[in-house]
Amino acid sequence: MWMMITVFSALIACSDDKPPESTPTDTTRPTTSTDTGTLTDTGVGYTTETDAGVVPVPPAGPYGSYTFDVPAVANWVNTGLYLRAGETAEITAAGTWTVDGASLGPDGDPGLDEERGCTKGMLVARSGLRFEEAVTCIGEGATFTAPSDDIVYVGMIFSTDLGETYGDRLRLGGAIEVTVTSEGDTVPTVAADAVATYDFDAVASGQVELESDYNLVTIDAAQVALDRDEAVEGLATLDSIYTIEADMRGMTPFSGQRVRWYPDETISAFAYMLAGNPVRCDPGLMTGNDSQRILRSGETGTDIWGFAHELGHTFTLANGAWVYMYTNLESWPNLFTLRALEELGRTDDQPNYDSYCDGREAFLSAPEYEQVRDDPFLQLCFLKEFEAVYGDDFYDDFYRGMNEQSNDDLRYDGTDASIWRYVRDRFDLSAGEDTSYLFEEWAIPLE
Ligand SMILES: [Zn+2]
Repeated sequence: MWMMITVFSALIACSDDKPPESTPTDTTRPTTSTDTGTLTDTGVGYTTETDAGVVPVPPAGPYGSYTFDVPAVANWVNTGLYLRAGETAEITAAGTWTVDGASLGPDGDPGLDEERGCTKGMLVARSGLRFEEAVTCIGEGATFTAPSDDIVYVGMIFSTDLGETYGDRLRLGGAIEVTVTSEGDTVPTVAADAVATYDFDAVASGQVELESDYNLVTIDAAQVALDRDEAVEGLATLDSIYTIEADMRGMTPFSGQRVRWYPDETISAFAYMLAGNPVRCDPGLMTGNDSQRILRSGETGTDIWGFAHELGHTFTLANGAWVYMYTNLESWPNLFTLRALEELGRTDDQPNYDSYCDGREAFLSAPEYEQVRDDPFLQLCFLKEFEAVYGDDFYDDFYRGMNEQSNDDLRYDGTDASIWRYVRDRFDLSAGEDTSYLFEEWAIPLE
C-alpha cells in the first residue's frame, strides 16, 4: 500500500561549477569560433503562441503608451518601460485568462487565496525579477510606483517564483490586454540579428533585453556594446544548447516560451545561478571575466557548462513532473549538459567533463548507497551507464515516456526505494528488459 505524502520543492541553487574569479591570462583565444554548431529547426515545435510578444519601444523615453497582450503562462512580460525609484506608470487591463481552465479577469479570483499580498490570478507589476521580491497588485487598473531603478515587468501572480520553476504556470491559459502609460525611460528588446548594428549608446536607461530564437538576456547596454563582436555567436550557442536539449527531451519547458537569463545580485550569496524562468544569474555572468560572460558563450574559452546545466534543469521538469529526481536534483540535469557539450564539440576546457566519473572504480569496489545518492557526479556516472549499455537514444526514449507522466504516477511513499523503483520501471521501458541488475551493482535501493 502506498500513500502520497507532501513533497516540497527544493531550491535549485547551482554553485558547484563556479569558475575562478581571476581574470584569465590566455590572450591567444580566437575572436570567432567555428565549432559551435548551427541552429536548426528539428521539428519539436519550440515556440508557441503562448510566447509573449515584444513591446517595440525606442532607445529612449518618454515611453508614452503601449497596449499589448500578457499571456497568463508568461514568466513575466517586459513592458519596455524603465522606471527610476519613485517614478510611476498607469497600468490598466481588460479581458480574461484562465487557471485550470476556469476563466477569470485581471482582478483574479478571491477563492484562490493570495500570493505576496495580491489575489491569485491577478495582474501584478514588479520592478525587476529578483528572486521572490515584492510585487504590486494592479488588477483592472492601478498606479505603479517603482520601488527601485528597474525594468517594469507584468504578469499574472499565481505562485512563488520558486513554484514557477516547478511548472506552476503550466496550469494557466489565455491572455489579457494590458495598457501601460508613463513618461519614464525605455528598455528596448533587441533581436539577435540587430545586435551588430543597434545603437546601444542611445539607450538612455542603460538596460536592454536581447532576444534570440529561444532565449532572452537581460543586460547592460554598455556591456553588449563591449561584447558586440561575440554576442551574435554567443546567442546562437545558447539557442543550440536549447535545441539539442529540446531534441533529447522531446518537449520544451514553460510551454515553449523563451528562457530569460536575468542578473540577480540577491542570489550571489548562496548560488551562482538559480534555475527557472528567468534563470537568475550572478551578475558576473553578464559582466565578469572573459571566461564567464554569457554573450561570449560562442568562444571556445568560455565556460558554458553552467548555461547548459541550468537549461538542463528546466528540461528535466519540462512538464512539471520532477519527483523522479528527488534523491538528487543536481545529477539529472547534467545528462542534458553532457549531450549539449558533445553535440556542440565543446567538451574541451569545460569543468567536470573529464572528471565526473573519476570516482566510479573506487565506488564500485565497495558501493554504499549514501555516496551515490549524495554525490551528483557519481550519480550522473551511474545514470550514464544506461546509455553505455542501451545506446545513445536511451534518454531520448526515457523522456518521451516521461512527457506523458505526472508526479502522481510515481507512488512516493517517503522512501528513496519508491523513487528508484519508479525510475527502474521507466528505464525498463527504454531498455526493453529488466535493468534491476545495474541498480543493484550500484547499491541503489529498490526495496
Ligand atoms: Zn544545478
